Amino acid sequence: MDQSSEELEKMEFNDKFEKTYSEISNEDYDDEGNFCSICGSLDIKIGYNKKEDMFKYECSKCGSIVVEDEGSSMCIKGDERDWPEYLSETLKFPFIGEITEMTDREFFNPDDPGPILFMDEVHVAAIDYSFKYGIVAILKINRRYYEHPLCFVDPVDDESSNYDEVKDYQRWRERHWLSDYIAAISEAFSKNKSDDE
Ligand SMILES: [Zn+2]
Repeated sequence: MDQSSEELEKMEFNDKFEKTYSEISNEDYDDEGNFCSICGSLDIKIGYNKKEDMFKYECSKCGSIVVEDEGSSMCIKGDERDWPEYLSETLKFPFIGEITEMTDREFFNPDDPGPILFMDEVHVAAIDYSFKYGIVAILKINRRYYEHPLCFVDPVDDESSNYDEVKDYQRWRERHWLSDYIAAISEAFSKNKSDDE
């Protein structure tokens, strides 16, 4: 986009947004299609500027404002969230979580599926950060500790603040998180490629 963040701040976003039938994607039928790109909250107000064909997303939870056009987006208020720090301070430990996806071990080796099973209720003692998986839950099972990606652990109490915070994180991670591991691999790959040339 050509505008500066000062110009974007002054712009009006009060136009009605209408999509033609062919522009309606499946995402529009999904309640979770629109959420804050900083904190994952669904609590956002969306404005539209027809002349520039731009959207403005204002988040009531973290206070961020993001403006988006066809190809780019700019955060004009708020900063990227430090998720490991935020969640360690915000989540209340311990809590009971449910495993929402099978591990590779359980899937490929059902006779010896390991300690973490799909749909198990587990004791979440803390969280940590993994280079490969992002935030991981530290699970305590039979007096031993295990790590499991937080994107596959849902707090069982869906009335708790933990539930909202974890769901916000999962939503954000699904669309915006780039694994350091994947980033390192693709960087190495493109470096190799340019060395060959
Ligand atoms: Zn937010």
